[in-house]
Amino acid sequence: MQAPSIGGVQIPRGTGQVIRLSRGASLSDFADKIGVNPASLVQVMFHLGEMVTATQSVNDETLQLLGAELNYNIQVVSPEEEDRELLESFHLEFGEDEGSDDDLEARPPVVTVMGHVDHGKTKLLDAIRHTNVVAKEAGGITQHIGAYQVTTEVDGRERKITFIDTPGHEAFTAMRARGAETTDLVVLVVAADDGVKPQTTEALNHAQAADVPVVVAVNKIDKEGADPRRVRSQLTEYGLVAEEFGGTTLFVDVSAREGYGIDDLLEAVVLTADAELDLRANPQQDAQGVAIEAHLDRGRGPVATVLVQRGTLHVGDSIVCGEAFGRVRALLDENGRPIEDAPPSRPAQVLGLTAVPDAGDSFLVVSDDRVARQIAERREARERTAMFAQRRPRVTLEDLESALKRGERQELLLIIKGDVSGSVEALEDALLKIDVGEDVVLRVIGRGVGAITQDDVNLAIASSAVIVGFNVRPAGRAGELAQREGVDIRYYTVIYQAIEEVEAALKGMLKPEFEEAQLGTAEVREVFRVPRVGNVAGSIVRSGTINRASKARLVRDGVVVAESLTVESLRRFKDDVTEVRDGYECGVGVGYNDIKVGDVIETYEMREKPRS
Ligand code: GDP
Repeated sequence: MQAPSIGGVQIPRGTGQVIRLSRGASLSDFADKIGVNPASLVQVMFHLGEMVTATQSVNDETLQLLGAELNYNIQVVSPEEEDRELLESFHLEFGEDEGSDDDLEARPPVVTVMGHVDHGKTKLLDAIRHTNVVAKEAGGITQHIGAYQVTTEVDGRERKITFIDTPGHEAFTAMRARGAETTDLVVLVVAADDGVKPQTTEALNHAQAADVPVVVAVNKIDKEGADPRRVRSQLTEYGLVAEEFGGTTLFVDVSAREGYGIDDLLEAVVLTADAELDLRANPQQDAQGVAIEAHLDRGRGPVATVLVQRGTLHVGDSIVCGEAFGRVRALLDENGRPIEDAPPSRPAQVLGLTAVPDAGDSFLVVSDDRVARQIAERREARERTAMFAQRRPRVTLEDLESALKRGERQELLLIIKGDVSGSVEALEDALLKIDVGEDVVLRVIGRGVGAITQDDVNLAIASSAVIVGFNVRPAGRAGELAQREGVDIRYYTVIYQAIEEVEAALKGMLKPEFEEAQLGTAEVREVFRVPRVGNVAGSIVRSGTINRASKARLVRDGVVVAESLTVESLRRFKDDVTEVRDGYECGVGVGYNDIKVGDVIETYEMREKPRS
């Protein structure tokens, strides 16, 4: 069926057929699928009241709206769905345990420590690690690998607990945002001398949003002024009622500094997990899980800490992790000691990957290297297309130019480099949450682990991006190149500082607001016809000044008859002049012929309003 036109645009309509589009697709992508000119879709959108450029990524609703208008059944495919389909094509599935209920065995809980800054999260994680018997036996040489496992005795039974070694809810949330539900239980640290603080409740919100049970560690009870009872009563307001107050939440008084109460805390974690969670996984299948940290090691190549969620990971397995793949050359525990395999809930360092995966990337063991490579390559290709789509220059559409100018977005593009992928993820997530209104957009066009390379600088040059370095510096000649090309590189060691500065930058580049300032008025006394120029108004300036090249409008009987004019010619007698003042006669040409005696020419300029 051929629709006559939509708002004057000739465009073939669909017959309700299904069109699949990736989330964040552009009108160009849509146009490709239905074989029309992207510009026509831009026009249709314009008539539907939205101004979008052809290559700009648009939201689901826009795609749906356009689909409905053109009679197509739009299915927006999320990246997760696309990935699921990719795995399906290899007869793989991520996320479900294989087999029946009988194949499932208990697995240790995975715990994240959260709480207000300075309440002792890091210290507590250290204290827990050091009470770990295994580590003590090994001489206590523990490495920071992003997670570790400890053993504790509960009711005469040896029980394991896995701790994610990146405290705070930023990393937790960034992982969740990527669909990686790694944490089973949260230990909320509250300093007994300080009580409930903003980040305490924030952390609690995140835990509750994720539907994850909470154990409260009331820390610093060694300190003078410690009031553990107050912490309990404060948290009641947030739905965490201590057992001794008749609730179900376990509160444990600890001193991370003195190493006091740590065993009780571990016991509380196990008891809470037993009471509230059914933590089981099939240890017999091919391993699946998530990367929680990764970096490039000079000697060993890419090193990723993965958390096994189901199955058992073995040395020699072929794995694919995000866009990285490889064969597990070695598995190391948190003490840097080689292990043969890693069962469910076991964190382990994996050596042998071809590239550094991102924190939050899922991993899975596949039948052979070839499959691993193909999946990784397909993912990489998809990522590249998405990236390329974003970097395509904006098209200027003559017919919409002025409209777009008014509504056009300004963007700040960032490239984030950090020392470990956890911090890159956390920083990106936090930056993308900055809210500066709708006229400015922040986009991360590149991210990665390791030093800032010439490649990063080149990307920044190509797309006018700013580079954010988190605990990293430029490598080799990258710094020089950046300086020569005027690429802005910002270095940070604290996330909130980065957020503050970027926020300020965004506010600084908010589109200036303009207000009109009238410059002068002139009354038309006579109209001359000038060959090749058109009509010129013989006028007398009634107020202010009339300047050549200033903006003008024509007013007749108090009504604007023509807008957006420019004073194209300005003469006194036979001379071209730049300015004519109040009380003087002049000839004014505004590039508009329908001028009548008695009309008023108003000139004005747009002045930038300072932003408050
Ligand atoms: P985080 O920001 O929550 O990771 O807090 P940190 O672990 O860095 O601890 C903040 C400060 O509190 C440090 O100076 C620690 O030494 C101190 N601290 C942590 N736990 C205790 C404790 O149990 N008792 C005392 N007195 N100080 C502690």
